Amino acid sequence: MRLFLSPHPDDVPLSCGATVYHLRESQGEACVILTLMSGDPPDPLPDTPIVRELHARWAIGDHPAALRREEDEQAALVLSAKTIIHTRVTDCIYRTSAKGEPLYPDGASIFGTIHPDDPLPLALIATPLPYLDQLTHLYAPLGVGNHVDHQIVRDWALQLARQHPTLEVWFYEDYPYSEQESAVETAHKFYRTSLTPMLQPLREMDVLIKLTALQHYRSQISSFWSSIEEMDQKIQAYMRRVGGQQQLMERFWRVQFDNSKDREGES
Ligand SMILES: [Zn+2]
Repeated sequence: MRLFLSPHPDDVPLSCGATVYHLRESQGEACVILTLMSGDPPDPLPDTPIVRELHARWAIGDHPAALRREEDEQAALVLSAKTIIHTRVTDCIYRTSAKGEPLYPDGASIFGTIHPDDPLPLALIATPLPYLDQLTHLYAPLGVGNHVDHQIVRDWALQLARQHPTLEVWFYEDYPYSEQESAVETAHKFYRTSLTPMLQPLREMDVLIKLTALQHYRSQISSFWSSIEEMDQKIQAYMRRVGGQQQLMERFWRVQFDNSKDREGES
């Protein structure tokens, strides 16, 4: 069984949805997507520039989490995957300190460093991994784009890799951040040793199913693209770039840990 960690609804389908479908349909692998930062926002909402900006952009009211969870479930169904959604953890834009102060009030802070008062990194370490005894592979965001929620999930995956040495841990390229020039290379700098690229060849059907699944993320499409057609074109152009302009592929990065105590990417 393969477990895909998704910081937000849409991250796994956008970044590696064709692989999820391919693994299930071509190799009979059971794939589970664990979506983490998708809980309901607090009431009242933190009154911050980023909450105002994103709620206006998503245009789905003051309680977008429920709809985003629904979009996620529908997309997973198309990908032949099972989805598990954590409903108690919220997106970073809603998280506050113990004193109730917003931790990530603006656009710069959500792409900055993890706030020292953010309770989530420690909470995740105490969270049991579903299906652990059946898992062969764990997939996590590489951290491209530096979104704090993606950094937190990446760090959790590195921690899990240390705890479970037999588990193969692969990092996917966070799309659409990954299409920016040099963004993947910048994300690599976090890791102390080299990463090995793992290219997933795909069938035409895998790509088609991925694009179909993504149509369910109606609230998010408008954040990044002017239309579904533009989204489809951009995604395929990136996948072609990854496949060396020959074919459409998705790329993962495997961190090879040595046997020393000093683990990759951890300080
Ligand atoms: Zn995300």
